Amino acid sequence: MSNEIKSIHEFDVNLICEYYSSVERQGPGSTEVTLKALSFIDTLSEESHITDLGCGTGGQTMVLAQHTPGKITGIDVFPTFIDLFNSNAEKLNFQQRVKGMVGSMDDLPFQDEELDLIWSEGAIYNIGFERGLREWRRYLKPGGYIAVSEASWFTDERPAEIEKFWMDAYPGIDTIPNQVKQLQKAGYIPVAAFILPENCWTEHFYVPQVPAQEVFLKEHAGNEAVEDFIANLRHESQLYDKYKAFYGYVFYIGKKI
Ligand code: SAH
Repeated sequence: MSNEIKSIHEFDVNLICEYYSSVERQGPGSTEVTLKALSFIDTLSEESHITDLGCGTGGQTMVLAQHTPGKITGIDVFPTFIDLFNSNAEKLNFQQRVKGMVGSMDDLPFQDEELDLIWSEGAIYNIGFERGLREWRRYLKPGGYIAVSEASWFTDERPAEIEKFWMDAYPGIDTIPNQVKQLQKAGYIPVAAFILPENCWTEHFYVPQVPAQEVFLKEHAGNEAVEDFIANLRHESQLYDKYKAFYGYVFYIGKKI
């Protein structure tokens, strides 16, 4: 294994996809946080249409389905995630109203003003926070909601090591007041913004990955790309431990004006 930590952008997407298929969540979050965000939304009925963009294998989508009426369309670029999503929906007997589709968040298959709620946990960074908020707005009915979680800085300044890490991984990260402003400028009333508790990163995200990483390394013994990838993930979780006072995920809920 090389000692140098590589940038996440250097790894093969299929490798990343295979690894994340083995864990329940592909980003920080929890059932409690999904339900807290949902508690701000008061307009859903059996006629509602919800989408979950960058749904992954559907951990949070199934929580939504258990607590909302209406139809849910999950969208993700990775067919493997969508297959797992649809078999999860079937296991819970939601297949009539919860469907996963392969697609991209920058080319959505909806009509203007078709949706009551756009959900996206830990995924809007793929298109960029501001761009996603602006481009997705047209698909919402007037009075419809958007609820997204996004990486945020907690302070105006931070140590160089963590600043450098994020500038490489996702330079779109910004402070909470700036992101609330972007939400407002994109045409939504900022209804709520709250920080995801630490256990969304630890208990629900990094901890389940410890055994998954051991298994993945064993399955790919001798594969240097896999060793580098796992080293990268371990480095990322160590950085979280060291610098969690400076950044985290924030849930932003907005209502279309
Ligand atoms: N919402 C899930 C997954 C978050 S990880 C969770 O919280 O567990 C980010 C997800 O975005 C991955 O599943 C990835 O495949 C997906 N993704 C990446 N680019 C995308 C795009 N252009 N369109 C749709 N999904 C995308």
